Amino acid sequence: MARARNRPALVAHGGAGSAGPGAERAERRRAMMAAMRLGARILRASGSALEAVVATVAALEDHPLFNAGYGSLLNSQGNVEMDASVMFAEPVALPAALRPASRGKRSGHTDHSNGSDYSVSAGAVAAVSRVRNPIVLARAVMEHSPHILMAGAGAESFARKAGIRLVRPEEMVTERARERWRARKQQSEMLEAERAARAAMGHGTVGAAAVDVHGGIAAATSTGGVPGKLFGRVGDSALIGAGTFAHGFGAASATGQGEAIILTALCREAVLALADGSPRPVAREAILEMIDATGAEAGVILVDRRGRIGYGHNAASMQVARYDRAGGLRHLWLKPIATGRRP
Ligand code: ASP
Repeated sequence: MARARNRPALVAHGGAGSAGPGAERAERRRAMMAAMRLGARILRASGSALEAVVATVAALEDHPLFNAGYGSLLNSQGNVEMDASVMFAEPVALPAALRPASRGKRSGHTDHSNGSDYSVSAGAVAAVSRVRNPIVLARAVMEHSPHILMAGAGAESFARKAGIRLVRPEEMVTERARERWRARKQQSEMLEAERAARAAMGHGTVGAAAVDVHGGIAAATSTGGVPGKLFGRVGDSALIGAGTFAHGFGAASATGQGEAIILTALCREAVLALADGSPRPVAREAILEMIDATGAEAGVILVDRRGRIGYGHNAASMQVARYDRAGGLRHLWLKPIATGRRP
């Protein structure tokens, strides 16, 4: 018997942080909508949620105003070190044509949520400097290696074998990122100035979560990391469960202070909470819990298996775009959630 067709939906973020320079907002909005159109087109053509989130995130990685791929922030040594991850929860009955190429370590988990069987798979890369699209490499790790997370030079060597072109690390550095790095370096003796600069910095990490008509559910996240990060630092965006998670209930991508997102396993907590709630209150609750535990700033986007979307953050601003059949394509500069405590 044919499976019921699901309602496709896609939600993406362009990072939580300061609103960023006003002069850049129109272009950031335009780029986000262009990336969303790619993802939405895939979903409308009955393509997979995995394809949709990777296409959306890769397009944002290519845009220099986002802190991912080309345009990533620089680490303390002035180099790009990028993290990315992707996860796919695939109904066991998904048509063969839509299944990723390799079974690899897939099917490690089958969940029986909602009476459906899902097999989940994931791939991630950490601290890579020589690939133009870290999310494409994360997907290659998922589909063509027996591993989930690969880092640094080893991940880049794997990229070459997987047919992904390597670039010189300098090719990933924009003039804008270099200027920001220089400005930070001048302030680095002054801790308070450093803290203030950090708080004022727009983050610009990118991520997406989607559900497709076949019931496939995916999330993807990519980042250049946080301002002033040490050489070798890896954040939540490389870590399944922290910055990215997908499951039979739904999928999530996070942004913000990675250390806090890791400590609270933000995306996994949020997605599992979809068992008992809808994405909007679940996103808000996940952020409130993160604040309680860490006092940090972060944001999360969520989609559930029914195609319902939610998001929340407690930074100054967060850029979000959404697509579903009922509402079409929309863009939002999202205000922070009210953090007045729960009863
Ligand atoms: N979460 C990212 C990291 O910590 C940064 C961000 O989302 O702005 O690397």
